[in-house]
Amino acid sequence: MITLKSEREIDLLKQAGHIVYLTHQYLKPFIKEGVTTKRLDALAEDFIRSQDATPSFKGYEGFPYALCISINDEVVHGFPSNRKLVDGDIISIDIGACYKGYHGDSAWTYAVGNISDQDQYLLEHTEKALWEGIRQVKPGNRIGDISNAIENYAKSHHLGVVRELCGHGVGTMVHEDPMVPNYGEKGHGPKLKVGMVLAIEPMLTIGREDIYMDENNWTIKTDDSSNSAHYEHTVVVTKDGVEILTGE
Ligand code: MG
Ligand code: MG
Repeated sequence: MITLKSEREIDLLKQAGHIVYLTHQYLKPFIKEGVTTKRLDALAEDFIRSQDATPSFKGYEGFPYALCISINDEVVHGFPSNRKLVDGDIISIDIGACYKGYHGDSAWTYAVGNISDQDQYLLEHTEKALWEGIRQVKPGNRIGDISNAIENYAKSHHLGVVRELCGHGVGTMVHEDPMVPNYGEKGHGPKLKVGMVLAIEPMLTIGREDIYMDENNWTIKTDDSSNSAHYEHTVVVTKDGVEILTGE
């Protein structure tokens, strides 16, 4: 069931989203060669708790960490570990925070030191695919308009679209209806209405789009070991179009 949020709820979702945004900003200076992803996870968890919020993902269906940290060929749901970042890695950090019962959800892919031109291309165009999707958010459009915009942008830039994972509604649960796939047909799917809150999150690959599940039963990796990027914002449909809840 898709719920439309009241003004009061949207206000709380904005506060949750802002905490997620602040957590990304807080982490940025620590993302460099030599740091372990476990340390990034601990820093983020402390920061989220200092904002009177809790990490949305910790304990979610048994996920053991505050953050999903996915390096290079890991697409999503990477486990923070003692692995140290090295120059040339790309690292996708997915952050969820729950404030007074409402969630914010945003992922970003960061470069560690100097990355290859190919990875730079992947990051630039996965972020742009996110913005193409967000541009379709306005009352009267449909979920398929978002999906189609992301898919078209990715395909025209020769990037693979991971199809098994998708965006979603956000509210008192971090994952709610509707699903927001990163591929689809214009004019199809649920109609966007004022008060709908959505996480839009393209996951694109530099190679083929096939994936497999790692032995830990959580982490998704690309079959061909090509690198993958992930950009996500939580947004609300407004009468004028869209407002980003996890941005500046
Ligand atoms: Mg996320
Ligand atoms: Mg999400």
